[in-house]
Amino acid sequence: MEIIMGQRSRSQTAIELEDKYGAHNYHPIPVVLERGEGVYVWDVDGKRYFDFLSSYSAVNQGHCHPRIINALVAQAKKLTLTSRAFYNDVLGEYEKFITNYFGYNKVLPMNTGAEGVETALKLVRKWGYEKKGIPANQAKIIVCEGNFHGRTISIISASTDPDSRNNYGPFTPGFVTIPYNNVAALGEALKDATVAGFLVEPIQGEAGVLVPDEGYLTKCFELCKKANVLFVADEIQTGIARTGKRLACDHENVRPDVLILGKALSGGTYPVSAVLADDEIMLCIKPGQHGSTYGGNPIAARISIVAMQVVEDERLAENAQRLGTLLRNELSEIKSDMITAVRGKGLLNAIVIKPKNGKTAWDVCLALKDNGLLAKPTHGDIIRFAPPLVITEAQLMECVGIIKKTLGQF
Ligand code: PLP
Repeated sequence: MEIIMGQRSRSQTAIELEDKYGAHNYHPIPVVLERGEGVYVWDVDGKRYFDFLSSYSAVNQGHCHPRIINALVAQAKKLTLTSRAFYNDVLGEYEKFITNYFGYNKVLPMNTGAEGVETALKLVRKWGYEKKGIPANQAKIIVCEGNFHGRTISIISASTDPDSRNNYGPFTPGFVTIPYNNVAALGEALKDATVAGFLVEPIQGEAGVLVPDEGYLTKCFELCKKANVLFVADEIQTGIARTGKRLACDHENVRPDVLILGKALSGGTYPVSAVLADDEIMLCIKPGQHGSTYGGNPIAARISIVAMQVVEDERLAENAQRLGTLLRNELSEIKSDMITAVRGKGLLNAIVIKPKNGKTAWDVCLALKDNGLLAKPTHGDIIRFAPPLVITEAQLMECVGIIKKTLGQF
C-alpha cells in the first residue's frame, strides 16, 4: 500500500511540475509515461498500455526499436554534430540512401516537421521566381481548408484553424485557401498564373483523418502539371508506411514534385525531417540561401537510414495495410450508439464520437486509458487510432476488445 501511494505521488508530482513550470500549450491525457517498447508504454506505476497514437505517427517502428537505438548510441559516441560548415562521413551516405529509397535526385535535411514544410514553401517560391518566371514577390501557394502543416508563423498563415491562428497575426501573405477534396476548386485557383505550388496532405490527419475521394490526388497532380505548378505533398504524418504503402501518394501512383517527410523518419527517436525534389527544383537553393545548424547531423543521418531499413525488413507497410483493414472492419462491427463513423487507411484511423449523457470523446479516452489503451481526441469528437506499425494481429484484436469493452461502459 505504501509503495502504491508513493508511486501514485510520482505521477501527481510529474503532472504538477509540468503544470507549474511548463507553458500551457498542451492538454495531455493524465498519464505519466516512463518506458516504452514496441507497441507498449508503461506509466510510473508500472501499468502497461497499448500506444494507439504513436506520438502522432512518429513511432511507426515501435518504441525504442533496438536497431534504431543501437544506431543512435553508436553514432552518439563517435560524432554528434559538425554543422554544415564541414562535411561529415554519414550525411552523404544518408542522402544517397534516402534519395534512392524515395526516387528523387536530391534531399534537403531539416529537423522538425514544421521546418520541413517551411523549407518546401521557400523552395516552391524560389522555383516560382527563378524557373516559372513569376514576377517578384507575387508567388502564391494553394493550400486546403482544415490543413495542419505545423506551427510557424508562415505555416499558420496558411491554416484555417482558429486555435492555431488567433492573435498570432499579422500573417504571411501568399496563400490561397481552397476546400479539401475538391478538384474543381483547385482547377479554378490554378487559373492564376502567379501560383507556384499546391501544398496538400494526402490524408488530413489532424483534421480528423479525412480521407479524400479515390483519384483526388491523381486529378490534382494532373491539373498542377497542366498549370506548371508544383505538387507538394506533406507526408509527415501519412508517410513511412503509416497508410499501408511507403507513401500515401503511392496508393494513387502519384509522385509529388516536392515531398516533405518527418516524424517516423527517425522512428520517434530524434527530430529528423526532409524535403525531397529533383535537381530542376532543388538546385534553385544555393549555398547560404537556406539551412539549419542541426539539419543533416551525423546522428540524424545514421538513425534515419536504419529507421527506413526497419520499415523494409519488417514489412511494416504490408502489416499496416492488412491490420488496418482488419481494424476498420472490427470497429465497424462494434455496437455502440456513440460511434457515428469509422474511417482511415492502413493504420491511420479514426472514429467519430457522438456524446452521450454528457460524456464526450475525452471521457472515452480517459476510460480507454483506465482499460490499458492510450489515444487522444482531435477536434473534440474524433479519436485517432494509430498504433505502431509493428503491432501483431493478436495485439490488435486485444485492443479491439479493450475498445469494445470501453464503449460498452458508456
Ligand atoms: N505536417 C503534418 C501533416 C503534421 O501532422 C505535423 C505534425 O503533426 C506537422 C506537419 C508538423 O510537424 P512537427 O510537429 O514535427 O513540427
